[in-house]
Amino acid sequence: MKFELTRRIKNLPPYLFVELDRKKQEAVAKGVDVIDLGIGDPDLPTPDFIVERMVEAVRKPSNHRYPSSEGSLAFRTAAAQWCNRRFGLELDPASQVCCVIGSKEAIAHFPLAFVEEGSVVLVPTPGYPVYHIGTLFCGGDTYYMPLVAENNFLPDLESIPADVAQKATIMWLNYPNNPTAACATKEFFAKVVEFAKANNIIVCHDAAYSEMTYDGYVAPSFLETPGAMDVGIEFHSLSKTYNMTGWRIGFAVGNPELVGALKKVKSNVDSGQFEAVQEAAIAALDSDQSCVEEMRKIYTERRDTLVDGLNELGLKAERPKATFYVWFKVPEGETSASFCATLLDKAGIVCTPGNGFGDPGEGYARMALTVGKERLEEVLERLKNVL
Ligand SMILES: *Cc1c(COP(=O)(O)O)cnc(C)c1O
Repeated sequence: MKFELTRRIKNLPPYLFVELDRKKQEAVAKGVDVIDLGIGDPDLPTPDFIVERMVEAVRKPSNHRYPSSEGSLAFRTAAAQWCNRRFGLELDPASQVCCVIGSKEAIAHFPLAFVEEGSVVLVPTPGYPVYHIGTLFCGGDTYYMPLVAENNFLPDLESIPADVAQKATIMWLNYPNNPTAACATKEFFAKVVEFAKANNIIVCHDAAYSEMTYDGYVAPSFLETPGAMDVGIEFHSLSKTYNMTGWRIGFAVGNPELVGALKKVKSNVDSGQFEAVQEAAIAALDSDQSCVEEMRKIYTERRDTLVDGLNELGLKAERPKATFYVWFKVPEGETSASFCATLLDKAGIVCTPGNGFGDPGEGYARMALTVGKERLEEVLERLKNVL
């Protein structure tokens, strides 16, 4: 037998975190006390009241059968009401909400409805790898929109050539942003709506970090923008907001035709998320959100510890007002890769080289605030010895 992989698999770039994890495991095997600030995975547990609801839900035989692929009406109603309270939207649970098995799943599958050979997809770089990979899997071509500091890590829509804009079917956006921690303004979103309407482009907004905000900053939904409901779909995740990365639950909301297209794809690919997980997610969405406020306090303290410490060591790091990432310039004379390799070899610290998210990320590194304050102080202590 000779197994021949498809071009789409052969052309895959190595998935960023697989590589990082391999290097980390090598260090661990050598006995190094590794501090991992690499992947964005909350270290804190899911709040108890959510776990309790899950335990009850698991015992119900009615939850042991196939779920519906789009999610239960109860889940979609909770998601719609959460969005309506939070962003002032008026979503219809029946036609404007789809339950997803983690937003990564939906981000990867949505393009199946709108991208084929010859389609162009506008993808921010540096960015979450799945936007490009979803395009690749559908045979489409990625046009990268660079995110640079001079433009506050927002894509420069005017620099997109007219013929590219004409051919484009989807634009991906993600604010608050991974990896840069940048936030979008309402003015920027208004320009996006105008651009999307002028060029007949679907706007896919990844809002995974909408609740991970600090210092009183409140992140807008793209769908709050006048006209956005005509062009947009937004991907929400419970992963970061409620420390639920392992549970695999989120939802997509927005234009009914776009949500309907996602449902059509998914009904042919999966059979939905376990209804017990949906019930636990309803408990999270319907709660008073005080657990989210707790989480914000913890991350604010960690952020200040790390950012203040990095600046004292002469590394210029901005204080992010959202996400749990600190995105900073590596020292003069270093590349992203050389700096991150030095940190691992000399200090046992794992962080992500900025160029791993795309070329314009070269010269940056990303640290995730996924360890406690004491460990971050240890990070700073070790850095002092290396720099
Ligand atoms: C973490 C993350 C997600 C969330 O993924 P889930 O599949 O919902 O766990 C989505 N987009 C970005 C940019 C992320 O960093």
